[in-house]
Amino acid sequence: MSNKWVYMFEEGDMTMRNLLGGKGANLAEMTKIGLPVPQGFTVTTEACTQYYEDGRKINDEIMEQVMQGVAKMEEINGKKFGDKENPLLVSVRSGARASMPGMMDTILNLGLNDEVVATMIAGNDDPAFERFVYDSYRRFIQMFSDVVMEVGKKYFEQLIDKMKEEKGVQFDIELTAADLKELASQFKAEYKKQLGEDFPSDPVEQLKLAIEAVFRSWDNPRANVYRRDNDIPYSWGTAVNVMPMVFGNLNNQSGTGVAFTRDPATGENKLMGEFLINAQGEDVVAGVRTPMPIAQMEQEFPEAYAQFLEVCETLENHYHDMQDMEFTVENKKLYMLQCRNGKRTAQAALKIACDLVDEGHKTPAEAVAMIDPRNLDTLLHPQFDAKALKAATPMGKGLGASPGAACGKVVFTAEDAEKWNEMGEKVILVRLETSPEDITGMKAAQGILTVRGGMTSHAAVVARGMGTCCVSGCGDIVMDEENKKFTLAGKEFHEGDYISIDGSTGNIYDGIIETVDAQIAGEFGRIMAWADEFRKLKVRTNADTPADAKKARELGAEGIGLCRTEHMFFEEDRIAAFREMICSDTVEEREAALEKILPYQQGDFEALYEALEGCPVTIRFLDPPLHEFVPTEEADIEKLAKAQNKSVEEIKAIISSLHEFNPMMGHRGLRLAVTYPEIAKMQTKAVIRAAINVSKAHPDWNVAPEIMIPLACDAKELKYVKDIVVATADAEIAAAGVDMKYEVGTMIEIPRAALTAGDIAKEAEFFCFGTNDLTQMTFGFSRDDAGKFLNAYYDKKIFESDPFARLDTTGVGQLMEMAVKNGKATRPSLHCGICGEHGGDPTSVEFCHKIGLDYVSCSPFRVPIARLAAAQAA
Ligand code: ADP
Ligand code: MG
Ligand code: MG
Repeated sequence: MSNKWVYMFEEGDMTMRNLLGGKGANLAEMTKIGLPVPQGFTVTTEACTQYYEDGRKINDEIMEQVMQGVAKMEEINGKKFGDKENPLLVSVRSGARASMPGMMDTILNLGLNDEVVATMIAGNDDPAFERFVYDSYRRFIQMFSDVVMEVGKKYFEQLIDKMKEEKGVQFDIELTAADLKELASQFKAEYKKQLGEDFPSDPVEQLKLAIEAVFRSWDNPRANVYRRDNDIPYSWGTAVNVMPMVFGNLNNQSGTGVAFTRDPATGENKLMGEFLINAQGEDVVAGVRTPMPIAQMEQEFPEAYAQFLEVCETLENHYHDMQDMEFTVENKKLYMLQCRNGKRTAQAALKIACDLVDEGHKTPAEAVAMIDPRNLDTLLHPQFDAKALKAATPMGKGLGASPGAACGKVVFTAEDAEKWNEMGEKVILVRLETSPEDITGMKAAQGILTVRGGMTSHAAVVARGMGTCCVSGCGDIVMDEENKKFTLAGKEFHEGDYISIDGSTGNIYDGIIETVDAQIAGEFGRIMAWADEFRKLKVRTNADTPADAKKARELGAEGIGLCRTEHMFFEEDRIAAFREMICSDTVEEREAALEKILPYQQGDFEALYEALEGCPVTIRFLDPPLHEFVPTEEADIEKLAKAQNKSVEEIKAIISSLHEFNPMMGHRGLRLAVTYPEIAKMQTKAVIRAAINVSKAHPDWNVAPEIMIPLACDAKELKYVKDIVVATADAEIAAAGVDMKYEVGTMIEIPRAALTAGDIAKEAEFFCFGTNDLTQMTFGFSRDDAGKFLNAYYDKKIFESDPFARLDTTGVGQLMEMAVKNGKATRPSLHCGICGEHGGDPTSVEFCHKIGLDYVSCSPFRVPIARLAAAQAA
């Protein structure tokens, strides 16, 4: 049997979304529940896939079924496509499984040609009708040329503008039938001029070309970008809907509109929308005329309005969600052209979900399921004032690396950021790239803008952790750090100039855009409480400071999954001791330097344990290569030389000996502890002593240290370090005469560790997947450089998303799944978590739930997202 490529609206329903697309499925569903929908048909998404398989052509079988659909549509509507007596005009509309508003193409008034126009006019004496026919004709030529043949819109707009000028009128609506007739013929001439052939007059040919154009629009650049941003797979394809035209531009008893059953900005339960008299679909959004508020429709078309209110109620009761609807009134009669669950702001999403529960439309579980966790981000950070933003044009774009809005004066160094901040200035730190030393400057800044780096670059990770707005990887910036200036969009910016950056979109603006503080509405807590009831995964946070930990706890974190100890070494007084440690010649010297660091580290851990009030805290031992800590400034090198009793040359020799060709795969992680066990000893003492002290102060808390050893790739290697940790810890505990439980675990971030997880679990009491490194090492992509070539991978459809932002479940995920399984086979009590950036990505969280992890750990501001995503996964 051959495939069924075409479904009449009467044949479908809303469950057939995958096949018919959202628009098609909902047109079918509205038909089914008796709403007034012009009756047409849907060409399936499978036909779209087939079109691409056939080398971007519609095959004969599909076209045959399309023509059968046309025949049935003619029968239902009592008109004939391309007929000279009673012609049927149609719209050809895109519609994918997930709604992608404005991303693909639609053609209206298809089926017109000179002859059809002539018969239509001949059959109606009303002079206004003639105007309407020519208006429709010129619209069709314009849309068809633009969408199907890719002749730029601008040529036609120029002709319209010229005509309006000649006639001395301001609006399209003031042009007469004769003007529009003349325009239609100018348009056809323009078409011929551009393409060297006549405008196709055969309606069947028009239809075939239009369907192909809609299929083709699935692959246009803006659709590709939208899909990547919204997790929509390329493989889905779009459906095409062909349906009879109804004419909002017929006369003054007609019109067209768009409406939401509730306010999509605030969620308020109140009809919201816009309406235009004597107009066709695209006029409302295109802004050629200012539409009137929907309520005003009541005066103009009381019956249609009353009927529309009923439709709204029917649809909400049917879909149990806020509806976004497109409709047309032709000669006072209402037609529904589209409905879908409306897009909404995060704030509106929360309010609507709660209201729907209160109104009995949804259960709490359904309410939790209907909120896009990614949207919550926007609720937690300052926002640009919507009006101010609308009026602004971006001068450049980078990656929206950490959401929020920031506006301030440009500074070029971390020190300047701090200095200016102390003087009460708001600043944006603009850097080629950031290094860990910049962290205090990053904290002082309202926002961070970098020329290099991707979504998991240092700047991005740290900024997200701090909840500071960050735009990274804006390669268009020409940077001159030395002279404290940069150039973007042809303009030179100096220290002190104002810029604004949007960490959600990555947009960069010249000058000041006002911001407003984020507001967490009351519904937020309600939804989160429901989410917590449903989820199985625990949610921890990646936090290095008590302040971050506290913030994360406020946002619902149940512990720390990753405390990076190295961030504690950068503060003024500590970095000196740490550098002494690095430059030591002997174990004794090194131990002496470490002895200086110990009390700081212990103090930091105590503060963390205090902040967590007995919730689990996983502390990771020193991880980065040592060269990240050595001084680069001449003055600092001299200072270090003095402290060490060495010459500047000797210090420089040590520094250059630390140079590695590939530091991410170099002397770092537990390799440092293998070469310098005294580092692990010091860190163990600090952890255990801190835990003992805090336990004593709070006997009711359960302070049970979790020590995490990074970057293991082998069981024996891990055992070597673990034995040192255990011996040190046991000695401390014995000396203190207390009873304290602690655990030693490891990070799984090298493929070999995942492959040998069964063995490694003999030594490790827990696993934590460090998926930033694991992704980097599994792909062999450097996470800081991958941005340079990943765009080519997206363009060529090799990759659909950034594996550093969304967990690669097929490759990296398989390693994780295997490691969990083999690890638990060895040690049933093994607990497993994830602490890479993926821990805050909803799709990745879903995968973590599926493979049975115990927790995810993410930056503080992503905690609510992870909680919600975990609930949805469950
Ligand atoms: P988009 O996905 O960009 O919204 P649509 O396919 O919904 O594109 O079409 C855009 C507009 O064109 C609709 O809102 C509607 O006003 C108008 N339109 C589409 N089909 C018809 C039709 N059969 N009759 C009248 N207007 C139509
Ligand atoms: Mg639409
Ligand atoms: Mg790592």
